[in-house]
Amino acid sequence: MNQSETRATVLALYPEDSREAAALLKQAVPLMVRHNIPPNPVHYALWYTYSKGQKPELNRHLDRVVKDFDCFPPESATKLFRDYIIRDELENAYAGQQQAIHLVDDMERDISRSVKGNLNFQASLGRCLEMLEEPVNERLPSILSELQQSTQLMHSQQEHFLSQLHAAQNEIKSLRDKLERAKLDATIDGLTQVLNRTTFTRSLEQALNDFPQGVALVMLDIDHFKQFNDQYGHPLGDRVLQHVGQVLLNSLTPHATAARYGGEEFCIILRECTDLTSAYDYAEQLRLKIQSLRIKARGTDKVLDTITASFGVALAQPGDNLESLLTRADDALYQAKRNGRNQVHR
Ligand code: GH3
Ligand code: MG
Ligand code: MG
Repeated sequence: MNQSETRATVLALYPEDSREAAALLKQAVPLMVRHNIPPNPVHYALWYTYSKGQKPELNRHLDRVVKDFDCFPPESATKLFRDYIIRDELENAYAGQQQAIHLVDDMERDISRSVKGNLNFQASLGRCLEMLEEPVNERLPSILSELQQSTQLMHSQQEHFLSQLHAAQNEIKSLRDKLERAKLDATIDGLTQVLNRTTFTRSLEQALNDFPQGVALVMLDIDHFKQFNDQYGHPLGDRVLQHVGQVLLNSLTPHATAARYGGEEFCIILRECTDLTSAYDYAEQLRLKIQSLRIKARGTDKVLDTITASFGVALAQPGDNLESLLTRADDALYQAKRNGRNQVHR
């Protein structure tokens, strides 16, 4: 209820025009004089209402009071004023006050929960709550108006804050996606999903540094791949490379790293590996898995030619570096090709 609505309710108690009001006052004042009743607003209101005669019970009460007492007890006047003149307003005001208290309580709780930092708003609510605890409600409209203003301010601040937050979240998400993508692009081979050559080189240098005599290198090259491409086309050749990449990834141990060295050549770094035989066995398992791949042309049941690969294996020796280890693995691979392909050489 705003301030003008409150005034309208109080005025509704006195609908008389000024001529009628003057006539009623002319009756009320002599009564007050006769009973020695002090002229104050509460007493005027009571005896004015008495003169109107519309609240017979009030009139009976007033008659009794002036009969029983020499002077009019102030507490009786207050009680009668409350019970007969402003009771409806008090009840309405009390209900409104309770509602406002709950409202403020709820809002304060919600806001405390959602916007911890807004101390100014909380201080304003706290002030209003204190004022609402007082029984007289004249300040209720201004309290509610203050609340309304600070709520509006808070609301627009929060809306603004939220939209800023959403925009920032979207921005962060897209930046994070781009960063992840860029990170992947920088380390992973897009076609086969194993590491790219740059990352492979870095990893092998790191492995040689960490385990100078505990690194084995497996190098493999797909056999007659040019012929395969010529027969089935480049897209199917790409699918073969993807399948080989999957075989390598699925066979990784915690100490192994697979990479595409270039074209149809791949390398596997085996860390903490000190004997050539276990590296050889590892390569042999890969060879068998590649040989057992059954790749079909898309949309058909026709299995393409068996895919095989040749392997060269080398174990790091004292004094080895990246180039010397790579050369030995490449030499072993060349030997495997020369010996008839689809085999491991060490
Ligand atoms: P070898 O058994 O001696 O290794 O014979 P090869 O035909 O595999 O060897 P060569 O080096 O003559 O041919 C390699 C082929 O690999 C030629 C090239 O078209 C193919 N190749 C290289 N990179 C890709 C690729 O990304 N996709 C496809 N589909 N083919 C590729
Ligand atoms: Mg090759
Ligand atoms: Mg080849």
